Amino acid sequence: MGRHLAGRFAGLDAGGIVTQALADLRRAPEALFDSVHQVRMPRWHRDRVVLIGDAAWCMTLFSGMGASSGMIGAVALGDALAGSPRSIESALDAYEQEMRPLIRKHQALAYVKAQLFVPSNGAVALLRAALLKVVSRCRLHAWIGQPS
Ligand SMILES: Cc1cc2nc3c(=O)[nH]c(=O)nc-3n(C[C@H](O)[C@H](O)[C@H](O)COP(=O)(O)OP(=O)(O)OC[C@H]3O[C@@H](n4cnc5c(N)ncnc54)[C@H](O)[C@@H]3O)c2cc1C
Repeated sequence: MGRHLAGRFAGLDAGGIVTQALADLRRAPEALFDSVHQVRMPRWHRDRVVLIGDAAWCMTLFSGMGASSGMIGAVALGDALAGSPRSIESALDAYEQEMRPLIRKHQALAYVKAQLFVPSNGAVALLRAALLKVVSRCRLHAWIGQPS
């Protein structure tokens, strides 16, 4: 596993962090190696069974919207059930219709945000470094410009 990761992240030093992490991994007696997957379901309900949160649309940790979207989904589901007390099927259809656009948007954004955490190649890593430099400079200017 160490060799696989060293090959995958070769040339991505990231200020020494990646090199250090790979060196630590070589020395570690045990290591947990996991992968990140997004859940995309064509539908979130069947009969009286309904999925919500990560079970329905796990966006991955890169999104930063998993807990929020789970809670937004809970509110949408509650509203839909309250709005259609005589037909669970209609309520669950309404819940899906309400949530789909938001989930689609953040699932797509998660792929973009993932590049900030784990750039897929050296060119993206350079782009990210330049972007972060500009952002931190803008924030510094905003901070200096503020009256005390
Ligand atoms: C490293 C990391 C960082 C993250 N950072 C953010 C962030 O900054 N912002 C954000 O909004 N989200 C973040 N998330 C995502 C967020 O944690 C999840 O999207 C959110 O917890 C999903 O909530 P959930 O209730 O759908 O599922 P879960 O939190 O997974 O809850 C499911 C529950 O069901 C239980 N369970 C499973 N099977 C059974 C069973 N058979 N019977 C009974 N119980 C069962 C589990 O034990 C668990 O308690 C992050 C996730 C990770 C891993």
